[in-house]
Amino acid sequence: MHFSFQNLLFLLVAVAGFGLFAWQARKIRANILVGRDRDMSGHVNERLWKTLLVAFGQQKMFKRLTPAFLHLIVYVGFIVINVEVIEIMVDGLFGTHRFLQFLGPLYSALTGTNELLGALVVLAVVAFWWRRNASVVRRFTGPELRAWPKLDANIILYVEVVLMVALFTMNAADLKLHQLEGKDLPGAFPVSSLLTGLFPDNLTALAVLERVGWWAHIVGILLFLNYLPSSKHFHIIMAFPNVFYSRLVPQGQFSNVDSITHEVKAMMDPSYAVPAPATNPDGSALAPTPFGAKDVDDLAWTNLLSAYSCTECGRCTSVCPANLTGKLLSPRKIIMDTRDRVEEKYNSPLIFHPSLYGAEAKHNPQEQLDKENHTLLRGYVTPEELWACTTCNACVEACPVNINPLESIIEMRRFLVLEESAAPNSLNVMFSNIENNGAPWAFSPSDRFNWADDLFVTEKTPVTA
Ligand code: SF4
Ligand code: SF4
Repeated sequence: MHFSFQNLLFLLVAVAGFGLFAWQARKIRANILVGRDRDMSGHVNERLWKTLLVAFGQQKMFKRLTPAFLHLIVYVGFIVINVEVIEIMVDGLFGTHRFLQFLGPLYSALTGTNELLGALVVLAVVAFWWRRNASVVRRFTGPELRAWPKLDANIILYVEVVLMVALFTMNAADLKLHQLEGKDLPGAFPVSSLLTGLFPDNLTALAVLERVGWWAHIVGILLFLNYLPSSKHFHIIMAFPNVFYSRLVPQGQFSNVDSITHEVKAMMDPSYAVPAPATNPDGSALAPTPFGAKDVDDLAWTNLLSAYSCTECGRCTSVCPANLTGKLLSPRKIIMDTRDRVEEKYNSPLIFHPSLYGAEAKHNPQEQLDKENHTLLRGYVTPEELWACTTCNACVEACPVNINPLESIIEMRRFLVLEESAAPNSLNVMFSNIENNGAPWAFSPSDRFNWADDLFVTEKTPVTA
């Protein structure tokens, strides 16, 4: 082990790379915490089990076998390649060469698997590129996938190829260098050994190529790490906390507004004791919060966490009955809009503002967006989209990382109804009927049993609202 200028340079590059990522991660954490508080404590074992199945085990991906298989290759490749990154980091910092070689046969298994997965990753990336750009997979064609999201998806694929090329350059040059020097290179290199013929027979050139591959691989990884916060690929980190904090209650169960629940209970049962409203620590009254959500800070922090976990895969939109029948609603777009809006209003991770890149192109020309009052509701998501939702939960069921677009939709609808009385007319009629008749229909409670008049019924008990 010897410490050289190269090690010092690597130390500086690594500190800069991880430091910049930590700076961006802090901004994203702050963005998530602008959401409303929601107590997610408890049920730790249940949550860990779900994280193991859904996030680590990719359980929900296996509903569609082709993309599941391709994704599995990239996912396992990512995990195994990370072991190699640890080796590169140690070598870079301490001047060692293939530090993990002391593992012996296990090292051969690791490097061999790494190479095979690297080659499969390149093939999977080609298939992904073709599916996204050349074939007509409907879920990759929504208006919200234009501009930055489309470019982003392709950048990720190109970067993965560049990283793999750098890896094979490093290994093949190192292998040939050792062969020409009559030495054994520890490890197994089933792919690179096929590529050595492409490399020169010159020792100096091979040493340079090995270093170029090594530096390109690790600098590429650090750049990619810092690109993640601006990309949908951030899900490779955020999917884990998002699944951990996802709902445990049955999917069809809606949350109630506590204050309204108390009011209704008090109406139904005069003896019901309405709890005293919560206060600040100094005993003063809490500032009133609006019903539902108008903007991102009215949503729960878990909804904002979900916005950073979305893979933009479109599985939710592809099963949404509203979307399938030509309505404007796309649950994927609701989640993407939430992330764009929180970064517009608060912190953008980088100086570059990806959410604004081609912002116009990302919206359907039919959307009636309010450009003056730029909030999540109306500035990004229109009431027309929200009222198209049938609350069927199909999007929630389909999401591979347990995102719940319906929760945000319901919160924005609540705002429209309870704060603006801006429900569609058909719903307003139903609300009046519930208020006046105790039922959604336009009939008096006393007429409720009229249908039984001609039946063999001897006595009717009048019903009151
Ligand atoms: S719950 Fe709403 S957004 Fe989700 S799939 Fe059903 S209709 Fe679409
Ligand atoms: S919400 Fe889930 S299903 Fe929908 S695009 Fe995002 S990750 Fe995919």
